[in-house]
Formats: sequence, structure tokens, C-alpha cells
Amino acid sequence: MENPHDFGRAFRALQLTCERALGSPLYREQPSNLRLASMEDFQKLPLTKRQDLQRVGIHGTRAVPLEEVCHYGETSGTTGASNSTWLTAGDFARNAQAIAVRHPDIFAPGRIIMNRFPFMSAPAHLIQLIAQQGAGVSIPAGNINWDVPFPRALDLARRTGAQVLAGFPFEPIILAKLAQARGLDPAKDLALDTFFLGGSPLPPVLQRRIEKIWNARVIELYGSTETMLLGTGCCERSLHLEIDHAYCEILRLDSEEYADVGEVGRLIVTTLGIEGSPLIRFDTGDRVRRLPPCACGDPRPAIVVLGRDGDEVKLGGSQFYSYEIIEAAAAAADAIDSSVFFTVVLPDRLLVRIEAEFADPAPAYTALRHHLRDVKVEIECVAPDMVLDTETLSRSPSVYKPVLISDWRGPERHILSIDQGMIEWPALGFAEAGRWLNRIWKKALTRRRLKQKIRVAKRRGE
Ligand SMILES: [Zn+2]
Repeated sequence: MENPHDFGRAFRALQLTCERALGSPLYREQPSNLRLASMEDFQKLPLTKRQDLQRVGIHGTRAVPLEEVCHYGETSGTTGASNSTWLTAGDFARNAQAIAVRHPDIFAPGRIIMNRFPFMSAPAHLIQLIAQQGAGVSIPAGNINWDVPFPRALDLARRTGAQVLAGFPFEPIILAKLAQARGLDPAKDLALDTFFLGGSPLPPVLQRRIEKIWNARVIELYGSTETMLLGTGCCERSLHLEIDHAYCEILRLDSEEYADVGEVGRLIVTTLGIEGSPLIRFDTGDRVRRLPPCACGDPRPAIVVLGRDGDEVKLGGSQFYSYEIIEAAAAAADAIDSSVFFTVVLPDRLLVRIEAEFADPAPAYTALRHHLRDVKVEIECVAPDMVLDTETLSRSPSVYKPVLISDWRGPERHILSIDQGMIEWPALGFAEAGRWLNRIWKKALTRRRLKQKIRVAKRRGE
């Protein structure tokens, strides 16, 4: 992919990455020549695959002595083994500064940032660092965490008057529903004006939906554990690549040729700003589509991230990426004024469950067909809390520091074990338990009905 930045500068940056990479077992033991004399030399280098990272083991990508490292990270390993990455303080500082400089209206002194990225993900630490570098006040309130469940996150945002929320794309949907359940209007009763979101597909229809409910704007963040920051969104909702931090090539799915604008390709990244675990021509596994020049005026290439290699879903005669399925379902939900949906891929159709009781599903069907063409679809409009149960979410646990002594003589908590000391769930009330059982029962019925149909279809050899 021809990058619009200074070619000589890009080549020098690639040379530096290759020199750095010689410090790691991953590249030191590779037969290819990493002493680049020309761009052709670079293009001849083999791709680095995820399996290569796993093959060399936990320290295999580390190119600097441990004394220079400040952070270890690894992929969640949902597809099997994890990839390891070692980063220096400089690696983090460069990424944090790049984000802050790119978005001075989001990150600025005095701006309060709710940092909901999980502790083990790199963006959580980038947000902390952005604040430490002087561009805001961060609240480290990672989700997927016992001590800051959703209700507490909502309280924190209200009490502190947070203006920015950084986290996963579904965070604002969940918080909005919780707020509404408490009789609050997210657009009026909270000060949040910007959502900085990444980690899963965020099609424009979902961005607009979040912006509408919250009267706030959405900026997308894109990167990976192995490569760190790769890009952020612009005012036109395009994801621009951070070409000073990552040299990106988009190759055709079936060859080493560069993909054209509009064509789906493989994203290959050579890190430029990473000393700890530099990577050369790393196949991210991400499937992306290069966009035409962006109307915002930023000359850097813009892409849409469609999903991961292997995540594609075959429906009817076509293949869809997770981005396309989420985009279609979000558009269907939006068409009947809902933000809460869930998709189930069945052998013969796509089932989209939308929280929109008594809604006429016709506009949702139109939206789905517009996106998924001739795929067989079914929309199930369900009652509130059937897709996202705010009552269960609101039953947030109380979390305490671990203790080894419990004094039963006083009014303090009477506990008998360490685990009881750390966490305590509120008891279910009678009415609450009834509603909860009712939802469980309904979901079990739906599950049984769907499974039975799948079994019958299999028997018939469909
Ligand atoms: Zn743009």
C-alpha cells in the first residue's frame, strides 16, 4: 500500500525496526536478511504469522533486556495459545502521546475520563498514561472486574461528571439501559460527551445509535496486543491508520499483491514505534477493506476492520464477516428504535433477537434484508431484559479487601471464610426472584425449541 508519508523516512523507520528485531529470538534465528538495502529487500521478507510467535515461546519476541521492559501483555487466547508481547516505557509513551495529539478535543487538562478498558488490555494503560502526560483525569474503572460492576461505573460517571468514556463498544449501550432503568435520561442527566471505543466491530449505524442516546460523539480506537496502536477514527467515522507507528500493507486474500481500494485484504503490520517486541510483516489475521480518500482531508489511509480470519460466517450462499452481521443487526434494531440486540447463527437462518416488545418488525426486516441481501432471517422482538437483563446487572456484588479475622461480637459482617470476606452478593427478593426465574424459563424454552428444530433438520439431512 502506498503510504502518503515521506518514502525515505518510512524506509529508514523500517530499517530501524529490522535492526531492533535482530535482538529477539524470533528474528535472530530467521534465515532472511534483515539488513535492508532497499525497499525490495523489505518486500521480500516472509510474513510473520501468529503461529511463529507461539512457536518461539513467551520470551521469543522480546528484543531488549528484561531490565528495559516495563510491561508484559498477551492475547486472550480465545483461539488457542496466547501471543506474548514485552513493552518498554517508551513504547507506551509514544502510543499515548500519538492518541492525545490526534484528539486534543477529547483528551485535555481537566477532562475527566472513565477508563473502562480491562486491566490486562493495553488501552487501559494508554488511557492512564494520557492522563499522566497531562491530557485529562483518568478514573481507572476497568470492566470485567468485580470491584467496578456496571452500576458502580454509572454512579462514578455521574458523581465525577466524567466527560469521556473509554472502553468496549457495548459499554455505552449497557450503561444507557441501566440509566434508563433508574429513570435517568443518558443524554441529559450525565455529562459524557465522548465515547472512545475499541475492541470489537463498531459500524457507523451503531456509532450513530450511541450518539443519539447519549447526545455524545463516538471515536473508534483500533489496535492489537501484538502491534499496539494502529489507528483511530475521524469526524467522518473513518478509521485512519497511524502510519508513523505502524507500516501497514493490505494484501489480497489469495496472493502477495496489494489489494485495491474497496477490496477485502489481509492487514500486514510492521511495527515502527515498538522497541520491546518489534514485529516485521506481521499477519494480524484481521480482514480489512481500504476506503477511498477520506472527506475529512486527512491523507492517511482509512480502513474498515471486518473481522478475524476464520470468524467468517457462511449464510445462504454468501460469506459474512462479524462486522457485517453486527452492522445488519444494529441497523435492524435501530429501525425499530432499539439498541439492544443479539444474533444467533442457525443452520438455515440468522436469528436476530431485539428488545422491542410489541414493535412492528417490518422496518427491522427491511433493514436486515438491505444488509444481508437474500439470507434467510428471523427477527424475534422480545420483552425488556430478555436480551440484556438490567435487573441482574444491578445486583452488583459488594467487594471488600480480603481479611483473615471476623469479629462476630459486634455489628460488623459475620463471615466464615476468606471468599465470603472478599465478595458478597445481595440476596434475591421474592418478586425479583420470580421475574428472574421467568426470564430463565422463557430463554430455556426458546433454546429447546431451536435445538429441536436443528435436530429435526439434521435428521432430514437438510
Ligand atoms: Zn477521515
